[in-house]
Amino acid sequence: MITASVPPRQMSAPWQRELAAAITRPAELAEALGLPLEAFGYAPSAFPLRVPRSFVARMRRGDPHDPLLRQVLPGAAELIDAPGYDSDPLGEQTAQRAPALLQKYRGRALLITTETCAVHCRYCFRREFPYARHHGDGERWGEALAAIAADASIEEVILSGGDPLALGTTRLQALGQRLLGIAHLRRVRIHTRMPVVLPARVDAQLLHWVRTFTLPMVIVLHANHPAEIDADVQSACAALRAAGATLLNQTVLLAGINADATVLAQLSTRLFEAGVLPYYLHALDPVRGAAHFAVPDEQARRLAGALAARLPGYLVPRLVREIPGATAKTALTPLLDGA
Ligand SMILES: *Cc1c(COP(=O)(O)O)cnc(C)c1O
Ligand code: SF4
Repeated sequence: MITASVPPRQMSAPWQRELAAAITRPAELAEALGLPLEAFGYAPSAFPLRVPRSFVARMRRGDPHDPLLRQVLPGAAELIDAPGYDSDPLGEQTAQRAPALLQKYRGRALLITTETCAVHCRYCFRREFPYARHHGDGERWGEALAAIAADASIEEVILSGGDPLALGTTRLQALGQRLLGIAHLRRVRIHTRMPVVLPARVDAQLLHWVRTFTLPMVIVLHANHPAEIDADVQSACAALRAAGATLLNQTVLLAGINADATVLAQLSTRLFEAGVLPYYLHALDPVRGAAHFAVPDEQARRLAGALAARLPGYLVPRLVREIPGATAKTALTPLLDGA
């Protein structure tokens, strides 16, 4: 993934200035957290450090093990080659239907709208995605849209990336208009981490687009730890809901960050208080450089069981793994005590 720069003509909105001002230098991050750089174990990476300041503000000062920090800091563990971990863990290059269009599942097609994200998550399964080959520059969706329009079995388009909300709202509106022109579409879904990592993105212009969009809009957020959900994130979610979007969340199960039943239960509870229902708890995809985040299946299934034993069913995300070639995300059965 490449950190694309935002063209100057789009630099007007406050969220775009915040996006452009994201921290990319480890020394600056260390200073913001009151930590010596040596305490980080930082190691340079081709997928460089990038984190918005508002996300850094939610990290605990002086704690090198902070669960938000560990999600974003490039470290030496990424350089270790682990067997089975590679650049395209999900076989996405074989699911390509048109440039920027992936389809793996019936009725749903996924559009890579941009390569840009507000944050670079170390465990990202698309950290080595060949965006250039997909024309992932947000301008050339023509062939993908034509393929969607030509296939009436596609009911839902998922805007993904990168982070689709890294696009300016005017571009989103234009893309949305073209989707609304495809008569067989019934839903549009947006996969985004932006309302969590940079809640200022949810501004009046975006809310106006959501409110006036004439197909049901599902927004699937991505939060991994309860400390990510602060008051600004809650307000952003409340506003999106008031504008008519259905809000869900997906979480990646990550060793050293959220592989703990209490943490996951708190995450579900906080999400609910923000108007968001938990959707998936993903087993880590084996992308090169992320092996140190892996949680063994047995432990994952026990955690899912512990969560189910504690929370109402609607607050328990489904534990799934993505298996290349499967017709859906594959469920991992929760292990319940006494069962
Ligand atoms: C995960 C994914 C989806 C969405 O799957 P749901 O189970 O509907 O959430 C769709 N397309 C692709 C290519 C995916 O990887
Ligand atoms: S926001 Fe999503 S796509 Fe972007 S780096 Fe994080 S996990 Fe990957």
